[in-house]
Amino acid sequence: MTQSLYELNGKPIRTLISEEDINKRVLELGQQLTDEYQGQELVVVGVLRGSFMFLTDLVKQIKLPLIVDFLGLSSYGGRTQSSGVVRVTSDLSTNILGKDVLIVEDIVDTGLTMTYLLENMRTRQPKSLKVCTLLEKPDRTIKPVDLDYIGFTIPDEFVIGYGLDYEDKYRNLPYIGVVDGLGKEE
Ligand code: 5GP
Repeated sequence: MTQSLYELNGKPIRTLISEEDINKRVLELGQQLTDEYQGQELVVVGVLRGSFMFLTDLVKQIKLPLIVDFLGLSSYGGRTQSSGVVRVTSDLSTNILGKDVLIVEDIVDTGLTMTYLLENMRTRQPKSLKVCTLLEKPDRTIKPVDLDYIGFTIPDEFVIGYGLDYEDKYRNLPYIGVVDGLGKEE
């Protein structure tokens, strides 16, 4: 049986944000971050696993000698809905005390995960702490979070691709896609 990356459960994956639009926006964000972090000790913290593709493309556009580190988070609860109960599955290897930390996330949905992460990061006393998220879904906010850099604001739809998964798969889709009816089952 032939398998396709471009369909899920027999339904086509519709493009919400194309590869070209992502590349353009990543370039803009990279230029902005290059300007704003001049002369600072930037540590870019990627939240695993969803941010890996965005972070990879983004740091190539930040023309500064920065540090890259990763933090693994796992959310308890349903497959497609956040519970807000978060666990650190793999910690940073960098001491961020006194550093300028930029958290890079794939998506801020309810805001529960980011609220937890910011509280956790603040206890480590970085000099500054900011957030760059590829996507935000304002219609779903439960805990409002100050997002310093936002790639795209999207409607309340479950998205996959460019790092975002469906049941651990589809992260390698090179664009942001949606499948009608997905994510509404719980
Ligand atoms: P929050 O705590 O803000 O509700 O959700 C954060 C996490 O839920 C994200 O880091 C992501 O892993 C997951 N998530 C939220 N919305 C979506 C979505 O539309 N698609 C995918 N694949 N994951 C999502």
